[in-house]
Amino acid sequence: MRGSVVALVAVAAVAGCATTSPPAEPAHTVYTDPPLPAGAAVAPPPAESAPPEDCGDPTASLRPLPPSTAAPTPTLDRIRARGRMVVGIDTSSNLFSFRDPATGMIAGFDVDIAREVTRDLLGDPGRIEFRVLSSADRVRALTDRTVDVVVKTMTITCERRTQVAFSTVYFEAQQRVLAMKQSGIRDASDLAGRRVCAAAGTTSLQRIQQVEPEATVLTVPNWADCLVVLQQRQVEAVTSDDSILAGLATQDPNLELVGPSLSSEPYGVGVNLADSDLVRQVNGTLDRIRADGTWQQIHDRWLGTFGPTPPPPTPHYED
Ligand code: GLU
Repeated sequence: MRGSVVALVAVAAVAGCATTSPPAEPAHTVYTDPPLPAGAAVAPPPAESAPPEDCGDPTASLRPLPPSTAAPTPTLDRIRARGRMVVGIDTSSNLFSFRDPATGMIAGFDVDIAREVTRDLLGDPGRIEFRVLSSADRVRALTDRTVDVVVKTMTITCERRTQVAFSTVYFEAQQRVLAMKQSGIRDASDLAGRRVCAAAGTTSLQRIQQVEPEATVLTVPNWADCLVVLQQRQVEAVTSDDSILAGLATQDPNLELVGPSLSSEPYGVGVNLADSDLVRQVNGTLDRIRADGTWQQIHDRWLGTFGPTPPPPTPHYED
């Protein structure tokens, strides 16, 4: 009783001094905005553009170099002269390329693929210089030669093939949705009128805008940011490749992958469009690791907890 009298007096005192009344509290907060990760923004609706030209099978690549070739290999010569392979990766895609918390080293499925390529070209898997890229940086890093290769969960598409070249497929992912358990979100159609996170510059962003245009997409620079905004309840779901979502889900037991595949996402090693000798060299390594069991070992090492290791993807060649 005394408490409420004191409170009433306090309210009266404040009301007496205030020139404007304080803003009313909203009945409930749907999303908290600040603080969002640096670079987060709500994606504008996709621009009306002509569909990308059909390039046939975008995953068809160049055959490996025969063991003793007389053909010039200017890119391979340049990398050998430098003594290091410059590899574009990420540090925020748990299981594919991330900083291993125990060792502080950059590790993962993609990193092991890059190590095998480097082993065959330079005789030592450790001769790598990593450049950390966001998803949206990948194509530019190849076209301006900041890196020799990108090994970063990069989907081969007709659109990207107009700007960069790809190896054969080294991993087959499927785009899906990640949500809190008991959120009621069962598939992409449940995202209508809700907020979902995707990294900028990705096929995941493009696809969710096609599949569920009524969803609001919050874009962030990298996939770890999507985990943060989901945990902060600034979005209700994340959409990306199952490979990436599985890496996020292993970091939070409250999360689960839901719904069917929204698209196939075949990963290739990205290379500058002019460097066909390097594409053939990478394809030679992928051939070797499919045949000698290394691909299976890499898959087991990083993804073994999710089930039995499937056979490696079959390469398609255009020549
Ligand atoms: N596979 C998708 C892409 O290449 C998403 C992967 C990523 O952002 O690393 O756009």
